[in-house]
Amino acid sequence: MALSGIQIYKFLPKTNCKECGVPTCLAFAMALAGGKAELAKCPYISDEGKAALSEASTPPIRALAIGAGDSQVKLGGETVLFRHEKTFVNKTGLAMLLTDEMDNAEIDARLARFGELQYDRIGLTLKGDLFAVKSLSGDKDKFLGLINKAKDVAGAEFVLMADSVDLLKADAEALAGRKPLLYAATADNVDEMGALAKETGCPLAVKADGLDNVAALTEKLVGMDVKDLVIDTGSREIKQAFSDQIAFRRGPLLKKYKPWGYPTIAFPCEMTDDPIKEALYAGTFIAKYAGILVLSNFYGETLFPLLLQRLNIYTDPQRPMVTEPMVYEIGAVTDDSPMLVTCNFALSYFIVSGEIEASRIPARLLVVDTEGLSVLTAWAAGKFAGDLIGMAVKKAGIPDQFKNRKIIIPGVSAIISGELEEELGTDWEVLIGPREAANITPFLKEMSN
Ligand code: SF4
Repeated sequence: MALSGIQIYKFLPKTNCKECGVPTCLAFAMALAGGKAELAKCPYISDEGKAALSEASTPPIRALAIGAGDSQVKLGGETVLFRHEKTFVNKTGLAMLLTDEMDNAEIDARLARFGELQYDRIGLTLKGDLFAVKSLSGDKDKFLGLINKAKDVAGAEFVLMADSVDLLKADAEALAGRKPLLYAATADNVDEMGALAKETGCPLAVKADGLDNVAALTEKLVGMDVKDLVIDTGSREIKQAFSDQIAFRRGPLLKKYKPWGYPTIAFPCEMTDDPIKEALYAGTFIAKYAGILVLSNFYGETLFPLLLQRLNIYTDPQRPMVTEPMVYEIGAVTDDSPMLVTCNFALSYFIVSGEIEASRIPARLLVVDTEGLSVLTAWAAGKFAGDLIGMAVKKAGIPDQFKNRKIIIPGVSAIISGELEEELGTDWEVLIGPREAANITPFLKEMSN
């Protein structure tokens, strides 16, 4: 388990010299525990303390990355069993399966779908992450042809799956610099696969049936100095696979059992032929605790809910989800369209923008930075005040752009209307909107009549 601030504090010099940028050693310890500071910032920790802290602060599940650049997929680095204890760190990577026995039309359709199925949500783009490219034919040219087709798709990294070390070697070379995940070292080929991973610098998947057999393989590979490993426990039956995932999180965290301390890969695509069941299995593994999921295909109706589930699980529970403060245009707005105001708490944004959409009356929505607080809480904390909203209006350049000088504030914050009018000047009219978001639609309709 990760060290607490108090445990870390015991290793610090306790001189409160402030050179690390915080006022006390205890504050520095708390920042370290929260992942908001680096050990190197304190120049006075003894070598003994450094060794103890760096050993103790290494996550029990090894952190590693597949690919490079913006589309790099980070895995592992996890320190807790449950999200609410701190946070989960690196979200589950979602992979679409491609095989060299699919016909060209099918492959083209899948490559196009990978690019199309992307969703903008609270300033983030939600999308799949990888192609799991599998050789079924054993034909080198076919496998290479497939990789060459897929490698230009933007935003995708790779899991290369083949029984032959030679095939994997050729494909890893075709993806030079992209560091695909090589799948997989087994008891039969561990020496060759370990050597290939070492030569190419690529992360390596390890596949074995049973927890002890996995441990034997990971220990052997670590002995070969191959440490970026991803574990496949071999089970393709949901109950056993689920139980394996939990064992591979609990072992390293609770028992400090290092041979299992790696991210995992799971294959819902090999557990069922039913796409809905497959999505349900995938949802199970997003919650606990797969590093990568290989799906038989991406379908909007199942991929989108999985992406949302992942978004919710892999956000920091100590930080509210926020949307970017700016003016959002909803519908075909004109210079005469009304403008509403809300806070940047993501849920408030989605509710209010949904109500505006439902009204079918084009409108602007000014989202004010309230540090993720809801309207009422932000108002109570002085973060949804008339002067701040006035400044946000001016910052957005609204006075120059729009003829409409009406701004609608939430009914629960009616008290700030005078202050806002004062800040905006006499050519603006501040209207009090409904107290409940559910009444925005009738309010807008009535206004437009
Ligand atoms: Fe304490 Fe080190 Fe920070 Fe100085 S630099 S306050 S000794 S943690």
